[in-house]
Amino acid sequence: MSDKRKILVVMMDGFEPSYLQASDMPATKRMIANGFYKTVKAMMPTVTNVNNTGICCGVPPSLHGITANSYFDLQTRKEEYMDKAEMVLTPTVFERAAPHGYKSALMTAKKKTQTLLRTGATIRLAAEAPQDAEGSDIDWVDRLGPAPNIYSPEINHWLFEATRIVLNETDIDLAYYHTTDYPMHMEPPWGEMSLFHLSEWDRLLGEMLDANPDLEVYMSADHGMNFKSRCYDLNKVVPRKGGQIFFAMSAERDPYIKHHRTFGGTAFVWLNHSGDFDRIADICRRLDGVEAVYDRYSAASKFELHPDRIGDMLVTGDIDTVFGPTDTESGVEELPEGFRTHGGSHETDVPLIVYNRDIDPKDWHGYRCNYDLIKSIGF
Ligand SMILES: [Zn+2]
Repeated sequence: MSDKRKILVVMMDGFEPSYLQASDMPATKRMIANGFYKTVKAMMPTVTNVNNTGICCGVPPSLHGITANSYFDLQTRKEEYMDKAEMVLTPTVFERAAPHGYKSALMTAKKKTQTLLRTGATIRLAAEAPQDAEGSDIDWVDRLGPAPNIYSPEINHWLFEATRIVLNETDIDLAYYHTTDYPMHMEPPWGEMSLFHLSEWDRLLGEMLDANPDLEVYMSADHGMNFKSRCYDLNKVVPRKGGQIFFAMSAERDPYIKHHRTFGGTAFVWLNHSGDFDRIADICRRLDGVEAVYDRYSAASKFELHPDRIGDMLVTGDIDTVFGPTDTESGVEELPEGFRTHGGSHETDVPLIVYNRDIDPKDWHGYRCNYDLIKSIGF
């Protein structure tokens, strides 16, 4: 009999503790009761790629290098998605597991994760595009039916069924399961669709744990989620206040615009001249709802970011305020009731759960951030 363990890493996108609290999730709560649980910090900017890469590599963004969902290419002067494996500067858990004889699968709802975290995974499936799956001859649509729409809660359930197949029916030892946070963007924890999303997911998890009692589960999230009421487009607002900047970008910018219109609680600003900092910082700080302004090196130091991969300035919003390209000429937009997103310092609380792997209580203080999730995995 093989002495290899079966390992499931769950990156539940947007799953902040209030969703865990509000939802009917008996299997997850059983893992908490019998395993390790702590509420830990997500990394700033609290957007998916930054934290997904941190969880997958077990290190902060200062080391893995993914500092947002997008970056601004100063050469071409274009915004580009930060979703390429070449941009990840440290090994993934898949690469770390391989020398120990472990084969891995990257199972994600989103195509951007398939490109970003692909390195070292034998099987790679994005439920959004099952026809582009790699590394196995399983016909996913034949097996599970067509994948539900990327803007639905059911896509996460479909993906979990696919994950169960790779762990139970193939030679994969470690599966990394990453959902979409569409349900969290659409509804607070008490919403009907959200309650369905998580209770149905938990039912599938419970079946998996019953069938595989030794399965190790490592579960955390990339960020929380809050209602937001105001958006600033700094490319418009700053000039109207008499300042000139080179470019401002929401760190949340990604292709999934139906979720959040790319609005998020952190903006990077590139200046024309470094001497402009004080004047532009002063304009930003005077905007209602701007929480803080940092220069590049203070931001890199405070938030463990890679200084070459952020702007000259990092601006954060308060709990109600986000940044991004508005439709209004003024650069200020009141957001419709019910608009939910993340990206700032008010979405940093996330759960961390480890089940079927002993953690010494003396290590409690070593579990500080979501990227500590896999520190006890052993490779
Ligand atoms: Zn996310």
